[in-house]
Amino acid sequence: MSPINIAIVGVGKIVRDQHLPALAANSDYKLIAAASRNGVVDGIDNFKSIEAMLEAVPAIDAVSLCMPPQYRYAAAHTALQAGKHVFLEKPPGATLSEVADLQALADSKGLSLFASWHSRYAPAVEEAKTFLASTKINSVQVNWKEDVRHWHPNQEWIWAAGGLGVFDPGINALSIVTHILPNLFITAATLEFPENRDAPIAASITFQDATGLPVSAEFDWRQTGHQSWDIIAETDAGKMVLAEGGAKLSINGELRKDTPEREYPALYERFAEIVKAGKSDVDQAPLRHVADAFMLGKRKFVEAFHD
Ligand code: NAP
Repeated sequence: MSPINIAIVGVGKIVRDQHLPALAANSDYKLIAAASRNGVVDGIDNFKSIEAMLEAVPAIDAVSLCMPPQYRYAAAHTALQAGKHVFLEKPPGATLSEVADLQALADSKGLSLFASWHSRYAPAVEEAKTFLASTKINSVQVNWKEDVRHWHPNQEWIWAAGGLGVFDPGINALSIVTHILPNLFITAATLEFPENRDAPIAASITFQDATGLPVSAEFDWRQTGHQSWDIIAETDAGKMVLAEGGAKLSINGELRKDTPEREYPALYERFAEIVKAGKSDVDQAPLRHVADAFMLGKRKFVEAFHD
């Protein structure tokens, strides 16, 4: 089969860090164009807008949309209308309804839509899921605490409405939780908003499942020093720690998995698979929990945040 002619839209940090190397290493793809207001990708045709790119390069089969979530729907709609398969960076959109609308459009046109969740492809996630399915889970604690100044310098969109604030990393935890645990729902949440921002800097959430399993999550962007991206489960078979964003698994202190991550290569393998199979992969569960936290959560205003 000939490679999928792919184009990238929104050339910024994640494109340079992950998408370009993952695409270069995968013979299922040929990167043939990019569209971005300022960013460029060397060695291919670059355009200022997705509309100009789709008009000039009819050979494009698929697009990867890597701009901030508030601007993803318009680009995805344009691409699907033009008959292109669509890879959505996480989160897949700014609202649940717009993603549902894209899914309906993709279905009606027989195109593949992929809501990518990179953390689900972290190396130890599947083993954690298998372990948890083999025992009784008694409680779960999620700690996702990082330094926003280090990871998101000068990203204004992340603090704007729809940018999700601390849920931008927190949704990565939720994408793992919704993959490895039974169905959960939020029972209480507190969201802390800097008084000068429209998105939270911290969130404290409790969930349960139908059996009453207690799950809690602490997301915090004010963590300096050691950074925590951990999911800890107390089970009948002992304590499971899924650490470093899903890269490392230990059970009762014994290291079970610690292999280098290849999240984006795996995402592009999955996208090629669904394009070839003529189907979509759109799981909204992580974004639904974020929406529920905004709906049910108490708001607390905290000191102003300045970069
Ligand atoms: P970014 O560098 O701030 O933004 C990506 C690009 O989007 C920008 O370079 C910009 O390119 C374009 N853009 C910015 N504002 C725009 C607007 N108003 N309208 C249209 N395009 C706009 O962000 P990023 O870190 O790459 O993140 C992008 C997405 O990837 C987010 O959804 C994020 O959650 C996800 N992601 C990021 C990381 C990470 O480590 N950074 C990891 C995984 C996933 P132009 O100015 O050239 O148009």
